[in-house]
Formats: sequence, structure tokens, C-alpha cells
Amino acid sequence: MATGPSPHYFYVMTLPPAFPLPQPAPAPLPAATRLAYVLRHFHLAYDSVPEVSIGYEETAVVRLEDASGGFFSGQAPYPPAPQWRDWCGTRLPFFFSPPVEAPLLHLPAGRAFIGPDLISAAFYLLSGWQEYFSAERDQHGRFPYAASVQKQYGFVTLPLVNYYFDVLRAAVEHVTGQPLRPRRWGPAQAAFAGFITHDIDTIHGGWGTRIRSQLHQGHLPRVVQTLLYKAAGRPSPWNNLEEVQEATTKQGAPSTFFMLGSQQPASNGTLNADYDLTAASMAARLRKLAARGAEIASHASYGTATTPGRLQAERQRYGLPAPTGNRFHYLCWEPRITPQLVAGAGFRYDSTLGFAEHFGFRNSYCHPFFPFDFEQGQALAFLELPLNVMDATLHHPNYLQLSAPQIMPALQPLFAEIEKFGGLTTLLWHNDHFDPANDVTGPRQFAEIMTHLQQRGAAFLTGSQIVAEVWTC
Ligand SMILES: [Zn+2]
Repeated sequence: MATGPSPHYFYVMTLPPAFPLPQPAPAPLPAATRLAYVLRHFHLAYDSVPEVSIGYEETAVVRLEDASGGFFSGQAPYPPAPQWRDWCGTRLPFFFSPPVEAPLLHLPAGRAFIGPDLISAAFYLLSGWQEYFSAERDQHGRFPYAASVQKQYGFVTLPLVNYYFDVLRAAVEHVTGQPLRPRRWGPAQAAFAGFITHDIDTIHGGWGTRIRSQLHQGHLPRVVQTLLYKAAGRPSPWNNLEEVQEATTKQGAPSTFFMLGSQQPASNGTLNADYDLTAASMAARLRKLAARGAEIASHASYGTATTPGRLQAERQRYGLPAPTGNRFHYLCWEPRITPQLVAGAGFRYDSTLGFAEHFGFRNSYCHPFFPFDFEQGQALAFLELPLNVMDATLHHPNYLQLSAPQIMPALQPLFAEIEKFGGLTTLLWHNDHFDPANDVTGPRQFAEIMTHLQQRGAAFLTGSQIVAEVWTC
């Protein structure tokens, strides 16, 4: 809003430090484990990948050198500095490149040799290795963007793993003679997908914001009217779930609502819901939203990302059927604990993994992926639908300070990257950001983003629909 973000965001600066981190407990990570994890995602990213041997062995048809040099036997969070190379006109960092620079791609008849160790680099980024082994956390226990390789080397808006896969694609196409097409989305087989989400933190607020906005515009009669509405007990401006759905439907998209499962403030005072999910009136509203095409998902309350047992118990408060998907309130995520809790609670997908401080790609990947389980040395059984853009990220005292006219020029290159690789765009627009009093990250900016995605031909899907498409592959 013109006067600043919603009140609950101000807790960011006042919280005590997060709890002590558990020690990392990694399983041995041999090259075969890394290779299997990465190639599973390569196969999911394209329509159909012909069987061809890809790996480090002498006999592999698409061959790379293992240039990780023992990195994955240790616990260092950061790899050696990358080599920078051009791929199809884009300058890219390649981690785990051999010391002697080999050609990026060497294509003799019937074989392909890839210079940098793309498999190790893709594994490093996709598995979230940096955040698992780094001990850097912010006041919410989150891995900070400031501590990331994306920040250090300036590639947060590039889906680097998809670029690595593009090199692999060229190699596979060369040896098989078959073109690989990025996966398509929805009944219309669209070239990329949009996942439009709303975290519902607060519905009983917004009077102050509205009055300040009306005063700022000099509309005194409207101020009086607002005061009368408030006194008469009218619904507050942010009690607007139906309007949110209407605005999203108007743009051709179904909404996925992430509803908070607890009203209890966290032990450090952080607020959770200001509404009762289980109240009959709220349950009836949610049923109506769902009947009109929305998905109701879990917005797990503050503390559930790090306390065993709580996430599962909270999921049961939603009634039946239990929600399929989850996103943690405040984007809380402790890599040494949370992934196992999400899997254990029975969720089919999560959509927490984006940097609150910057739009882009936290795992440098623009498709859904299976998070890596460092304790078991294998993929977990739920999909991460990575979060790319959150409204508050764009304009907030602790995050970016974009003005309204700066938003689309900042985001369009990001959307173009996702479209280039047939990926998924996940957008988080809170219900309080649909308040017309918000003229920086409000309903007009939401409509601009949606119109752009619609014009580019995105297939808009709910989280469950995305999971159903990817998981059947
Ligand atoms: Zn939230």
C-alpha cells in the first residue's frame, strides 16, 4: 500500500534470534546418487527423453568428467568460484569446471563430451546444498539471500539448472538425432504454466490503510463513509477472499488459497491467523471458493517448520479431504528439518522455496522438483513448486523498494526465462494486496502481471493440477 506494507510484516525486525541449528547429518553422496537425482529431473523437464547413457564412465555416450574433487564428501557450503562461459548468447557461471578449460560441448559423430561438470553443478543448486550446510539464518530461521551463491555471483533471476539442462539437451539431441521438446502444460499444452497463489494471513484489518489513503487523496466524504462502515460492523477491507477469487478468475486463472491453520501466536510473539479456519462460516466460504475452482491449501503456522509433529496435527484441522499442498507462513524453512516434516505430514507439494528478499530462483530451477533428502541420500516424495514472485518482495522496507512503474520491467525478463524453458511461474499475491488503497503492489499491479502472463499464453493451474501433470511422468 502507499503507506507501507501490512502490519504483520513489521515483526521482521523485532524477533529474537532463531533456535539453535541441528547438526547436518548427510548420507554418503557418491557420484551415482548425484547423477540419478539430476537425470530424474532432466527427464521430467522434457516431453520424452530417449534412453541414452549419460555419465562419468568412459563408455557413456554423453560423457562428463567428475570435477567435484571431493567437494561432496565434505560439508563446505560453497563450491570454488565458477568459470564463466557463453551458451547461446547468455553468459553463465559453471560451477565444478575442470582446471583446464575444455570446450563446453564437443560433438564428434555419435558421442558428446561436456566440458564442465554440469551434473555436480546442477546437483549442488537443485538439492539446496548451500543452505543445508551453511549455518547462516535470519531472524525467522531462514537461509538469507545475502548468503547465497545466487547473490554472490548475481544469477538469482537465471534458472541456471535449466541452462545446464539445455547444454545436456543439445548433447542428447546430437547423439540420438531426436529433438527434445520442453514439457507442455494443461489441456491446451501451453508452453509454460502459471500458479497463482494467495497466502491468507489476516482478514480483519485494512480500515487504517483505507482511511490513510483517502486522507492522502483528500477525499474527506469518503473518510467519513469509511468510518461509518467500520462503526456499523461492515466486513473489513481485507475480508475479501471472494473478491480475490473474482479478480483472479477475470484473468483466466484459478486461485490457490493458502489458509493458516492456527490462530495461536508463536512463542516469540509472531502472529498467525486472525481468523478461525474451523469456524462454520469460514468452512462454508472455503467450500464455495472450492466449488468455483479454487484450491484450498495449508499455510502452516509459524513454528510448524521446525517442530516435529505440529505440521501433521495442523493438517488435520482442515477437515477432509486434507489439503494436498502447503506453504509455510513467513516462508519459514529449515533445510535440516523441514523437508522431512513436509513428507511425513503427507503433503504432495510445497511452495515455500523462494527468497523473500528477491524475486527469482532459489534453487536456480524453474520447474517443479523433488527436494533432496540429505539424511537418506535420495529424493523426497513431494514436489516443490518453487516460488518466484511475492508481492511484499517487490516493495518493503526490508526487501526491494521498487516503485509501481518499475515492477513490470523488473519481472518481464524473469517470466521470459521461465517461458524459454517451459517452466512454472509461481506468484504470491496476499489478499491484503488486493486492497485498492495499495497503489504500489496492489490490484492494479497484479492485473498487469496477470495480463502479461495471459498474453504470453500461460496455462494457469492449481497446485494439485500441476502435481497431477508432473507426477504422472
Ligand atoms: Zn503468511
